[in-house]
Amino acid sequence: MVLSQSLLAPMGCSPAIWRGISAYVLKSRGRMQKAFDIGLDSLFAHKDAATPESCFIADAPQRGTFYLETFGCQMNEHDSEKVAGVLLSRGYRQVDSVEAASFILYNTCSIREKAAQKVFSRLGELRETSSEPKKIGVLGCVAQQEGEKIFHRSPWVNLVCGSASYSKLPELLEQLEAGEKRVTGLDTDTDETFETELTRRDNPWRAYLTIIEGCDKACSYCVVPFTRGPERSRSSDSILRELRQLADLGYTEVQFLGQTVNSYADPSSRKMKFSELLRAAAEMPGMRRVRFTTSHPRDFGRDIVEAIESNDRICNHVHLPVQSGSTRVLRTMQRTYSRDEYLEKIAMIHESKKHIAITSDIIVGFPGETEREFDETLGLMEAVKYEGIFAFKYSPRPNTPAQSMADAIPEEEKSRRLAILLELQRKIQTEANEKLVGDFFEVHVEGKSRRENQWSGHTSCYRVVNFSSPQSDLLGSYVPVKVNSATPNCLIGEHAP
Ligand code: SAM
Ligand code: SF4
Repeated sequence: MVLSQSLLAPMGCSPAIWRGISAYVLKSRGRMQKAFDIGLDSLFAHKDAATPESCFIADAPQRGTFYLETFGCQMNEHDSEKVAGVLLSRGYRQVDSVEAASFILYNTCSIREKAAQKVFSRLGELRETSSEPKKIGVLGCVAQQEGEKIFHRSPWVNLVCGSASYSKLPELLEQLEAGEKRVTGLDTDTDETFETELTRRDNPWRAYLTIIEGCDKACSYCVVPFTRGPERSRSSDSILRELRQLADLGYTEVQFLGQTVNSYADPSSRKMKFSELLRAAAEMPGMRRVRFTTSHPRDFGRDIVEAIESNDRICNHVHLPVQSGSTRVLRTMQRTYSRDEYLEKIAMIHESKKHIAITSDIIVGFPGETEREFDETLGLMEAVKYEGIFAFKYSPRPNTPAQSMADAIPEEEKSRRLAILLELQRKIQTEANEKLVGDFFEVHVEGKSRRENQWSGHTSCYRVVNFSSPQSDLLGSYVPVKVNSATPNCLIGEHAP
């Protein structure tokens, strides 16, 4: 956990102290991130964003305790880091259990039905277990999608707020504090981005930084344009200013976030292109790695490949979701590119003088997807040889055009296709990783195993590497590692001299 100041001086504590706390928390948790996980759980996994330490701002008025749980993607995780910053700066203290909290918040995901259902089961549990009055807040995509209906279904909820209204959170909290029972922030017609004075970051070395919010792409299966509102980019000046502050706090890696990060459109007169922003970020003194996710194929150009080639600090990894290998399915998905056009982008990346890892998202069982069209997806995977994928069974979502499309694929058939696809990806990853045995990688160390002298981290291309080292304090450092063996999901090696 790190509290990083975005615009103002930190209240009650110096950055050095915050970093100290964060390093301690990370060590005590020993949490390791897992990349290129071809299972589904890694995207669904909810994460307890609360901290084990009693985290509060000393000179703010003390207003009670909050527990914040996050579901869904990295953007939600980072939104929660900013929401926690808002609450801390108002004088709330963060705690790590529902029982210890007077204010319980769920930051929700509705990308698939299963993710949305989890929130209602959490809300049900609260009614059953809570003996004393607590304030309850539902944030994020389910809040936006269900709106005030949440109050009817779970009358014990007090706050419902979608991500496009997060900049209004201080006002909404003020209303709650003044005794209002039901408060909402559900407007999506906004050009505002969510910038906070204080952000409570989970990872002390790699910082998320959202550069573009919302989405204008309108894929026929997806709720994001409804739940997150229209595309809004932050100005390049404000992004680079925050990056400078992150570097000053000791962060060495940044991950630019956006649902379509490469559709970034600088609203300032500077009109920086996305690839120029990457280059400028890589020049920031102190920053050693710049990542970005998720890229949309339509807006992916050669200039991004050239930026990656120009500076080793820009990570050689592109997450470029294809969704399907069939042009007909892509058309009904409204993805705005054909199979061939996607493969042209892949060729551009494969032809680079640098090896650039490519990962993807794939949906199986979209309405009307035939066996032959599914085979086209398998064929495309063989051609691209993704370093990792996130694969999903199509899930019908409210308000989306795909929800009313004919020829729904039965659940068992979706499961069968998913299993075949995951098995193929396992084979591709096994072969690719085995070829790396004997190679050397620079690893950013982010985790320590319970086993003595065992460490874990990521390469620039975001492969997970587990390795041994005689050294006793490597967290946060960058070390050379020789790969001795490989599994489908990680490389195993030793600290190289
Ligand atoms: N904006 C990113 C893009 O277009 O590539 C993806 C954002 S979305 C949070 C992550 C992934 O969830 C998508 O790439 C897609 O594979 C998957 N997804 C979205 N809606 C879905 C649905 N209705 N059913 C199954 N998977 C879905
Ligand atoms: Fe959803 Fe498509 Fe936007 Fe990605 S690009 S968030 S899949 S609408």
